[in-house]
Amino acid sequence: MAETKEFKTESKRLLNLMINSIYTNKEIFLRELISNASDAIDKYHYLSLNDEKLTKRNDYRIFIEVNKENRTIKISDNGIGMTYEEINNNLGTIASSGSSEFLKKLKEAEGKEGKDAIDIIGQFGVGFYSAFMVAKKVVVETKSPYSDKAYRFISEGEDTYEIEECSKTSDGTDITLYLRDNTEEENYDEFLEVYKIEELVKKYSDYIRYPIQMMVTHQVPDKDDEKKTHEETTLETLNSMIPLWKKNKSEVSQEDLNKFYKEKFHEFDDPLTSIFTHVEGLISYDAMLFIPKKAPYNLYSEQYEKGLQLYSKGVFIMDKCKDLLPDYLRFVKGLVDSSDLSLNISREILQQDRQLKKIASSVEKKILNELTSMKENDFNKYSEFFKEFGVNIKYGVYDEFGRRKDDLKDLLVYHSINHDEYISLKTYVSEMKEDQKEIYYVSAKDKAAAEMMPQMEALKKKGYDVLIFSDDIDEFVTDILSEYDNKKFKSIQGNIDLQSDDEKKEIEKTSEEKKDLLTAIKDALGNDVDEVKLSSRLDSSPVCLVSGEGLSFEMEKVMSALSQGNAPKAKRILEINPNHELFHALENVYNTDKEELSTYASVLLDEALLMENMPLKDPYEFTKKLTQLMIKAAK
Ligand code: ADP
Repeated sequence: MAETKEFKTESKRLLNLMINSIYTNKEIFLRELISNASDAIDKYHYLSLNDEKLTKRNDYRIFIEVNKENRTIKISDNGIGMTYEEINNNLGTIASSGSSEFLKKLKEAEGKEGKDAIDIIGQFGVGFYSAFMVAKKVVVETKSPYSDKAYRFISEGEDTYEIEECSKTSDGTDITLYLRDNTEEENYDEFLEVYKIEELVKKYSDYIRYPIQMMVTHQVPDKDDEKKTHEETTLETLNSMIPLWKKNKSEVSQEDLNKFYKEKFHEFDDPLTSIFTHVEGLISYDAMLFIPKKAPYNLYSEQYEKGLQLYSKGVFIMDKCKDLLPDYLRFVKGLVDSSDLSLNISREILQQDRQLKKIASSVEKKILNELTSMKENDFNKYSEFFKEFGVNIKYGVYDEFGRRKDDLKDLLVYHSINHDEYISLKTYVSEMKEDQKEIYYVSAKDKAAAEMMPQMEALKKKGYDVLIFSDDIDEFVTDILSEYDNKKFKSIQGNIDLQSDDEKKEIEKTSEEKKDLLTAIKDALGNDVDEVKLSSRLDSSPVCLVSGEGLSFEMEKVMSALSQGNAPKAKRILEINPNHELFHALENVYNTDKEELSTYASVLLDEALLMENMPLKDPYEFTKKLTQLMIKAAK
């Protein structure tokens, strides 16, 4: 009896998208199914190395059969197959189902057509479902060595699928596609032509390491009469089976690498950059590494699995070997094939394997070299990279107590007040003004916001450039770096030393004169501030809040978000501009109505907090006081 099951919601919607897809590249369905078949054989082979239950085999193959009468294409493999649970989990659900980000993207895709939609869904690895771009019905018959029974899965791309037992006896999977009916716009018949299948295999799946075979009929001359011909059908292997990474670098074009990347990692976009390398020496390995153009939607979530595919002497070992990539390079995709690893190595032993550690550190160096040369030779491309993955580089500096900071610091680039493009720390330092001693930065969400800040006034006047920190991690990174080229990093929202000696004397003098007023303001504010002082950094703004030595406001925000309340606080210094009209107003109030001064002081502090994007202690109180002052002013 066939059982009818519902697809998970996301799968339903995805199916819909596939069915209604007007994507011009429908032909990629074949590469997706072949690549699944090849993965399944990889898995069988790997498991058979250590599991007595699985017969050792050397007859791996992928077989394609077309039937013009029934209008079907069948793709068979003798790989690992699927158990009942696996069919439901793998074909009835998409891997990323349940992820809200996925649902969001799916929604976006549904509004779109063709290529845009595919670009979006392409980020989610939807291989199997692509069959529905050409098929109206898909039948999967499969048997796993871990199940006594074989199963048939039937889907017509609607909300439900059927699943029932079937009589398949050998391990592996047969997938039959019933092609869609031809319409005026679309003709699917070409996929039933042997030459077309040959062409597609050559185009997309040539490197697959298992033979992709098909019965091919040729006209051959008769033996006795060469003028006559007869049909002969032979089993042909369509692919060359040489893994791309085993070829010489000179034989592999960028185009080949791009194609390989897209097929292997189910990507729809070319990579931003690729590294193809053969390493020989104390350790030997071949590697193909890719930096994607875009970060996958879940790169920073826990579900994301970093790692490189690992092969040993051309034999697949595992899909995501996480020990091959440090955390901060988690966005890199690719594979490593080494002859120095034992074939029978188990995943547990792998972690401690010394060869593997050496490969990992060599891979890391290759990636950093590539990034460095990209930065030096194609800064636009590097900017594109940094925009997408810069946070990871920053994390790399910070991670493990700054162990890698010297290797990574020159890969850091920032936006700054004086530049429209990213600049490196080196550039910043080389452009520092003669009297400038420190590297200045400001925490702001973007340049426009940074430029509005009162603390910026004095620096602008001096023409100093200021780096814009807009990632949470930025200040933690400079904290770890502590300096660059012997120049310390300084937040312009902290205590900075910009004045000349004369200016300092001047402000000291005024402060002494206005001591009573300043003390009164401090008293009015109590513990809400640590210090109230006159400012020499302000020009048109009346007031600003800056942090003292140690923790900055930005760090305080990040830490309090992480620790839910018990985070340490930054030291708060309220700086008042003695040349501003408001200061004179304060003096007046102080001289005439000492009570009223506390209202002024508290509104002043709240203004400063607002400009720093910091929460007010009591917004209701602030509004009340401001209202009072407005009414009074209008009287
Ligand atoms: P992906 O290959 O990106 O994981 P697919 O939708 O192509 O996504 O396939 C989903 C899952 O179904 C695969 O991960 C695999 O576990 C299983 N699967 C697909 N095709 C086969 C096959 N020919 N043999 C065994 N398992 C398969």
